Amino acid sequence: MVFETTFYDILGVQPSCTPEELKKAYRKLALKYHPDKNPNEGEKFKQISMAYEVLSDPEKKAIYDEGGEAAIKQGAGGGGGFHSPMDIFQMFFNGGFSGRSKSERKTSNLIHTLAVTLEELYTGTKRKLALQKNVICESCEGIGGKRGASQKCAPCRGTGVITKVQKIAPGLVQQCEERCRNCRGLGETIDDKDRCKECNGRKTVRVRKLLEVEVLKGMMDEQRIVLQGEGDQEPHHRPGDIVLVLEEKPHPVFKRDGQDLIAHVQLQLSEALCGFQRVIKTLDGRDIVIQSYPGEVVKHHSTKCVMGEGMPLLQMPGEKGRLIIQFVVVFPDSLPPEIVPEIRKCLPTPPQEPIPEDGEEVNMMDFSLEQYQKASEEGNSGDGRDSDRFHHGGERVHMQTCNTS
Ligand SMILES: [Zn+2]
Ligand SMILES: [Zn+2]
Repeated sequence: MVFETTFYDILGVQPSCTPEELKKAYRKLALKYHPDKNPNEGEKFKQISMAYEVLSDPEKKAIYDEGGEAAIKQGAGGGGGFHSPMDIFQMFFNGGFSGRSKSERKTSNLIHTLAVTLEELYTGTKRKLALQKNVICESCEGIGGKRGASQKCAPCRGTGVITKVQKIAPGLVQQCEERCRNCRGLGETIDDKDRCKECNGRKTVRVRKLLEVEVLKGMMDEQRIVLQGEGDQEPHHRPGDIVLVLEEKPHPVFKRDGQDLIAHVQLQLSEALCGFQRVIKTLDGRDIVIQSYPGEVVKHHSTKCVMGEGMPLLQMPGEKGRLIIQFVVVFPDSLPPEIVPEIRKCLPTPPQEPIPEDGEEVNMMDFSLEQYQKASEEGNSGDGRDSDRFHHGGERVHMQTCNTS
């Protein structure tokens, strides 16, 4: 019997939903209303977190289903028993509460990078990974040898850790814990003859494990995927997580900027002036056609965008960012002189500047500002002779003959 459904309504799920559906609903809403994205929706974020915290815990869920929110608050001892919304979020996406109690021992997280293509981040993908990890030895069930053969390690008194007191200043000491070397942190030792042959008394064995990882549509470079509890196993420890850090491979056509994609499209001058049509292959393999409208001139370095052809949004995979197109117009190096007058006729008339009678005609040389600056940096030894600088860049500048008629 469900007494009250507010928490289910907040997450937009049915009271009969599966844990997977609950997680999905929380993931979607928590990302949408996270204060980083929606600073004004703090209250909503809090409600979502509280609802998820209760409904994801079978015990709390039972109390809630029985007596509603009031019963939960009573049970939590006056409402103080809840984690902060940020802690819930951290736990969900990164694994583990940040303010975890010290007594709960957990093996360290294993961090791997996972290289993915932009196509994979666009369409989402499932990847199979083979990883090496420690698991509890089956042969000795994690005891390390014959039952009863283990003895409490003397130096650490069975705790696996040695507490050291260090004097850091007069009258000031610092305590630090170190893994016991005698028992390698296991807290006990076993005689050679009683040791498990499988694990050599280590209690764990190294195995190769295949894992399937889901890369969701719209995930970002450096985003973490946490496989909770898939880390190394060790007796009396909660296994840590495997954390996969996504590494986006560069794409030959598209550069990603958040939810937008940027592509350069090269146009010949004739196309820039007289019109063009281009096919762009999208990351999911569709062909989209872009074109100029009749009479339009596309300028060098001008940009346009296509809405909805960018990256899918992680929170709302049905929605996509923009495809931003930057045009690069390629000019011809020269033109056959005989066609120049024809072209001139077609183009807007330039302003006529009167040339003074005594105007002096000078020659222009090819000149690269970049090379000039580079040469200035490398060769500026302080002798102040500008003419020397041009030779440090390696490329000599030739005079160009320039005939004006
Ligand atoms: Zn064993
Ligand atoms: Zn020890």
